Amino acid sequence: MISARKIALVTGASRGIGLAIAKQLAQDGFDIWLNYHSNHTAAQKAQKIIEDLGAACTLLPFDVADIKSVQAALNPLLEKQAPYALVNNAGIRKDNLLIFMKDNEWNDVLSTVLGGFHNVTKTVLAAMIHAKGGRIVNIASSAAHAPVPGQTNYSAAKAGIVGATRSLAAEVAKRNILVNAVSPGFIETEMLQGLPIDKILPLIPLRRLGKPEEVAHLVSFLCSEKASYITGQAFQVNGGICM
Ligand code: NDP
Repeated sequence: MISARKIALVTGASRGIGLAIAKQLAQDGFDIWLNYHSNHTAAQKAQKIIEDLGAACTLLPFDVADIKSVQAALNPLLEKQAPYALVNNAGIRKDNLLIFMKDNEWNDVLSTVLGGFHNVTKTVLAAMIHAKGGRIVNIASSAAHAPVPGQTNYSAAKAGIVGATRSLAAEVAKRNILVNAVSPGFIETEMLQGLPIDKILPLIPLRRLGKPEEVAHLVSFLCSEKASYITGQAFQVNGGICM
């Protein structure tokens, strides 16, 4: 079905920051193409929440790290319509000191975060160019900007996202496609499970974790007409933990 509203494709949107972004973009007037990996129950709940906000929500379960799955899910939709906004949010962490890091811990994080950005963006870009405009927001991390022992894999992937954001922004600016990165600090989601929050809080100048909605508001702005002269930037939403 062709939507009269603009479409936003949000990866990893069944939970956490991605869900908050999808909700905010639905409130902003977008219909949502909602990607997730395997948590169907969470995705169906997310779909209901978004539909209750008055937006259409198409569930797209695929692994962003697997180019064949990405293309199989998106190409049939892209033949009919291009998303105006793409938010590359799907990500995982598999922390370990580099000296102990297993190959799969390195490879899984790189292929999901950086490979996922590549696979999804490349699949969508031609349709966005054909539509003569769009917005891409890549979710990076404070770990792209400041050292985090135990996260060489995650830091490498997220710093890669920031670098790729700038280069892609330069490539597609003349096509009226604006590309930016948003780097969250410690945000209250399932991704923080197992971290020593009591030791982390004193390091955050605002002395609290962030809320997913506090990231979503910036993404919403970057996908809006108000952000029409901003491209190639990385913005931090982190309570001041990295200035
Ligand atoms: P969560 O773990 O809460 O949610 C992760 C989401 O990504 C889920 O929707 C999950 O789907 C999806 N996902 C995971 N792997 C894949 C995959 N291979 N293909 C498609 N979807 C996938 O994460 P957060 O909301 O905390 O994080 C969102 C983004 O923000 C990530 O990129 C993360 O690195 C970044 N970030 C988070 C911070 C935080 O403090 N929370 C800090 C800095 C950055 P499913 O439900 O099916 O598993």
